[in-house]
Amino acid sequence: MATALITGASQGIGACIATRLAKDGYHIAINHYPSDGDKANAEKVAAECRDLGVEAELFAADVSSYDQCEEMVKAVKTRFGTIDALVNNAGITKDGLLVRMSEEQYDAVIAVNQKSIFHMLKLVGTVMMRQRSGRIVSLASVAGLYGNPGQVNYSASKAAIIGMTKTAAKELGSRNVTVNAVAPGFIKTPMTDALTEEQRKKMLELVAMKRYAEPSEVASVVSFLCSDDASYVTGQVIEISGGLMM
Ligand code: NAD
Repeated sequence: MATALITGASQGIGACIATRLAKDGYHIAINHYPSDGDKANAEKVAAECRDLGVEAELFAADVSSYDQCEEMVKAVKTRFGTIDALVNNAGITKDGLLVRMSEEQYDAVIAVNQKSIFHMLKLVGTVMMRQRSGRIVSLASVAGLYGNPGQVNYSASKAAIIGMTKTAAKELGSRNVTVNAVAPGFIKTPMTDALTEEQRKKMLELVAMKRYAEPSEVASVVSFLCSDDASYVTGQVIEISGGLMM
């Protein structure tokens, strides 16, 4: 059976993608940030996946560290034998207006959201090239396509993911490895729970469908991109935004 590795899968969209890919029949390698809280949440996600009849295992790693990613990828390969799908989901925000943003805020978001993609594309891309098959999906954002006030660090990291996706698609395509990105809009998760009621209202004014998405509406698109049905789709960015108007 095929194996999927999902980063930052202890909660939110990542947890939902893990259970969706388990339903699709993938064994699940759940990456979580190395903290007790994330481990406890990831255990619950693993239990849900096992209830769906597949194997699921936890792999702790801070994806902003190349060494930790390298250890994790080795461990997943040893445990499951292959890595057939990779979902780069882990991400953080540290919002602030451009003129007030500290260098620390900027660097932290780039390290987790962008540099991690380099680590994982390089390490898992190598495994998949040798396998001569694989599916990679990374979580970008509408902020990377259109920008968003207060998120110069986040939108830079997400725009970079789009460029990296297209380049990796070109480099890995001849080995039957597809590389795509999804660009969610406003999704109901702990990340967006942090917004104020006023921010929420303002954002929904821009959305044609006048509602937030459920994490499952992102997971279903990721599931498609990881399926045989998407075998000739690569280098694409699929917006999941309910019709975001600029
Ligand atoms: P979330 O905060 O609920 O979950 C993020 C996950 O990433 C958590 O499990 C966290 O522990 C993990 N993580 C953070 N830093 C990590 C690190 N260094 N190493 C390993 N894991 C780490 O967020 P979410 O809303 O579920 O977002 C998931 C992805 O979707 C992110 O990449 C986010 O940027 C993207 N996204 C979210 C929205 C939204 O509206 N929620 C919109 C567009 C894009």
